[in-house]
Amino acid sequence: MSGLPQGLREKCGVVGVSLADRQAARPLYYALYALQHRGQESAGIVTHDGFQQHDHVELGLVGDAFTEADLDGLAGRVGIGHVRYPTEGGLDSSCAQPFSVSFKSGSLGLSHNGNLVNADEIREELAGLGHAFTSDGDTEVIAHDLARNLLEADLVRAVKRTMNRIHGSYSLTITHDDTVLGVRDPEGNRPLCIGKLDDGYILASESAAIDVLDGELIRDVNPGELVVLQEDGEGFDSYQLFTPENTAHCFFEHVYFARPDSAIDGKLVYDVRRDLGRKLWEESGIETDVVMPVPDSGRAFASGYAEAAQEEGADVEFAEGLMKNRYVGRTFIMPTQDARERAVRLKLNPIRDVVEGKTVTVIDDSIVRGTTSTQLVQLLRDVGAEAVHMRIGAPPIIAPCYMGIDMATREELIAADQTTEEICEEIAADSLAYLSIDAIAETLDESESDLCLGCVTGEYPYDIEGEETDRDVERPVIGDPAPADD
Ligand code: SF4
Repeated sequence: MSGLPQGLREKCGVVGVSLADRQAARPLYYALYALQHRGQESAGIVTHDGFQQHDHVELGLVGDAFTEADLDGLAGRVGIGHVRYPTEGGLDSSCAQPFSVSFKSGSLGLSHNGNLVNADEIREELAGLGHAFTSDGDTEVIAHDLARNLLEADLVRAVKRTMNRIHGSYSLTITHDDTVLGVRDPEGNRPLCIGKLDDGYILASESAAIDVLDGELIRDVNPGELVVLQEDGEGFDSYQLFTPENTAHCFFEHVYFARPDSAIDGKLVYDVRRDLGRKLWEESGIETDVVMPVPDSGRAFASGYAEAAQEEGADVEFAEGLMKNRYVGRTFIMPTQDARERAVRLKLNPIRDVVEGKTVTVIDDSIVRGTTSTQLVQLLRDVGAEAVHMRIGAPPIIAPCYMGIDMATREELIAADQTTEEICEEIAADSLAYLSIDAIAETLDESESDLCLGCVTGEYPYDIEGEETDRDVERPVIGDPAPADD
């Protein structure tokens, strides 16, 4: 147990499909494979065959969670899927998703990426009205609220009423009987996109899931938009339910989480990372013999950085001086400090010939606890590096994330209470520099007021108890009997 704060939930991948003539289970399964990097703790699929809902949710990787027989049992041309990331309590099957349930108003399946900051208030209110909860996850809260609203309103109004009550980040794929919906929170904090397949439509956290099915990305789901896939796979209907003044896109999706081959909010992640690398050179470039990435997520940053350096006539060589053991998971998602420390050593091995006797710049996407950086600098010195400079493709992370990214507590974040100079000393590098917030906003072509920068400024786009907000936001008043929607 890592001592993560209350309110921190999963980081996940979601998908939903509606097809004309074939079963949804296998396309969903392949799409989940493409989203595996967004969560390795559990995987699940819910389908609907027009009469009843089918579900299979298992702990483990996608490849281990389903057998042929499991997929055969998931009947129906529509369905949703989910992969989930470890949380505070470690492995926990009661929070695995999609969440599925049958109510008087029909059967519901929900896949959620994000985190509500007022789930406890809504849960308490609904429990008082007789709703029985089986988990402490906020996805179940959304399901119960939606089911309640569906008793009194049509699908679109019911979704709008629920969106009026929930506060926080959410990209959802939902089955209501045999209808598949996609919803993105009004600030668009977490990604969600729509794609066209040969025989239907798909909603997914990232466009890589559309690519893997030979589909075509149509566009991102807009912040505050509800998309309803037509049951025959013929098209989709769009309802712009909320139009906020500002969005709050998570810049970290581009920096770290998303696959480089995905396009998010209109930008290819690979291009963004290369451009951030170029900016890093502009802001804090240092001429060394070798520039090398921390594989894999530092690679695009490092190639942009080295290219910009070479264009300016710097005599630097881009080299892969660190080899990664692909069979060890990302350090970021290891649930305990001990596992994280062991994983760094297992995961990265320096190539002596590339490093020995050379000055080296190592490019990484971010520093969270500093464990990886400290060990890396030491590893490179052990194989003969003459100097080790660190350059980071994001600003210092000074505060936790409450929007669904399992990052660390404030106490665990190396930059929470230390200056860059102090961190440089702690990781024992010859120099250390981070990218500026300005560079992030400029590269993403967004104003800072349309980004979530909570973890690097300590000011959040949502009303979070005990934290500062960077905008005029209010939590909905729960318990207000009059729905303010229709
Ligand atoms: S706090 Fe950081 S990681 Fe969390 S949503 Fe905002 S930008 Fe993304």
